[in-house]
Amino acid sequence: MKVKIWGCRGSLPAPGPETVKYGGNTSCLEVRLDDGTLVVFDAGTGIRRLSRALDPDPPSTIHVFLTHLHLDHLLGLGFFRPMWKPDCKLHIWGPSSAMRTLRQLIERYLSPPFFPLQLGDVAESLEFHDNPFGECSLGSATITGEFVTHQGPTVGYRIEENGRSFAYIPDHEPARDVDLQRRSPEWISGFGIAQGVDVLLHDSQYSEEEYNQRIGWGHSSIHHAVSFAQIAKVGQLVMFHHDPEHSDDELELLLKLAVEQWGGAANPPILGYEGMELQI
Ligand SMILES: [Zn+2]
Ligand SMILES: [Zn+2]
Repeated sequence: MKVKIWGCRGSLPAPGPETVKYGGNTSCLEVRLDDGTLVVFDAGTGIRRLSRALDPDPPSTIHVFLTHLHLDHLLGLGFFRPMWKPDCKLHIWGPSSAMRTLRQLIERYLSPPFFPLQLGDVAESLEFHDNPFGECSLGSATITGEFVTHQGPTVGYRIEENGRSFAYIPDHEPARDVDLQRRSPEWISGFGIAQGVDVLLHDSQYSEEEYNQRIGWGHSSIHHAVSFAQIAKVGQLVMFHHDPEHSDDELELLLKLAVEQWGGAANPPILGYEGMELQI
């Protein structure tokens, strides 16, 4: 399968000259399964450019898996043109709440006064799949969803196809109230999703100093991201969900710290950037 990053910024879009290299658009991944099926992970502002790349003939069926409904993962959905095409079937997967379905939750944003159109205008071409936990099959791929520690219901995903795998956990605080090294792995949030994958795209939002002032906000420090990747024995850590306050230069300083912590082992961490393509 092939993965392309269309947005890897966290929390808020951060366009500007200081973020040109790694990009200012928020979370969005395009995944092409081996049979050509298009699967999109998260609908942050990066999805607008994916939408343009699909014009004028998007696939007739598209799956969009949302990790959660914070706006940095949802803001672009209304600008994903296939959504408004009656001849395109869009499957939207994501967590709901005890009180509202996934559709009702998304409708709160995609309706006036927050958005000029309403989901009801395209009711026929949308299908919602609440709480995609456990395994589901798409073509020759298996997608596994599991709750991970963040703010509010949030899913981490593992995608496996023909013996290759990657995990996508963009918003994650596995080390809240716990020392990762001292806990047995099966009790670490997200471990089951990430264990042994070839590639892990993981929350790497904060420096240690920043994290210490933001404990419980739902994100990882660089140290936590690297520790988590090492414990899960992943092949390649791709640092993701960059803080909007971090310039390209600052991200490269954080990368240096991550590589140091990796300690000379093979395939040290790399920074995700807009336009990055991974053949997995
Ligand atoms: Zn986020
Ligand atoms: Zn979030």
